[in-house]
Amino acid sequence: MNENENKEFNLHTHSWYCGHGVGELSEYVDVALKGGLSVLGFSEHCPMPSERWPGSRMPFKSLETYLGECRALQSSNSEISILTGLECDYDPLFHNWYQEYLLDSHRVDYLIAGVHYLTNDVVIDRYIQHFPNDRKALYAYTDSYIETLSSGLFSYCVHPDLFGMFYAEWDSDAIACSRAILECASSLSIPLEINGYGLNKPHISTKMGKRRQYPFHSFWFLSKEYDIKIVASSDAHRPTDVVSQLEDALSFAKELELELSSLIINTSKDGNRTLLFT
Ligand SMILES: [Zn+2]
Ligand SMILES: [Zn+2]
Repeated sequence: MNENENKEFNLHTHSWYCGHGVGELSEYVDVALKGGLSVLGFSEHCPMPSERWPGSRMPFKSLETYLGECRALQSSNSEISILTGLECDYDPLFHNWYQEYLLDSHRVDYLIAGVHYLTNDVVIDRYIQHFPNDRKALYAYTDSYIETLSSGLFSYCVHPDLFGMFYAEWDSDAIACSRAILECASSLSIPLEINGYGLNKPHISTKMGKRRQYPFHSFWFLSKEYDIKIVASSDAHRPTDVVSQLEDALSFAKELELELSSLIINTSKDGNRTLLFT
């Protein structure tokens, strides 16, 4: 059965489960319903069986409770399509776990992913905002992002321009890395995300003056040279942000005249969902 083409949807939503968000899942549903969204996808930060990246996600033992709560909301809401998902950081050691345990078992309807942590000679898995403003970190970020895109696990990849948190200038290296990410997303036909949460974060100082950390205007301006799919999402960590931050991301796309993908949800006879971006 084919459902409608959805133009206003948000598939990037957090909650109290991750430890740095607030609000019950049902509160996000209430705001999405009042705001007229047709689809709300929950994408809490994915806990790992190894408990890697513990600072930003629920303990692994909470995963089934979270998924069960998403599924219960899915069954009890007919006015809005609720989807069950997770936002991952990609650990290649667990490739089969994401594929088999999460996707093939239909525990989730979809996975999205980004690169939030980097490792260098000195530190392991440090949040990228705290990385040095240097080329090495920029290229490590780019390699990691491309590895994530190429894994074949993720419906779309979030805030590709997050390197703007630590790499200040829009120079030849920033352009080369942005082109590498855009080319990869284009060749694999995987959408990239304009992130509404970033639009509300404090600006940083660069040689060219103050700018947003992300979304990075220059990155998205460059994206116009590529045939890529683009998705806007709120990345809400509070119920009140679920629609407002989505609207911020939609306005950003409009200002730059970026065309956004629509979402089609295919539901099989067994009730399993597949997401397609036009
Ligand atoms: Zn978060
Ligand atoms: Zn997120």
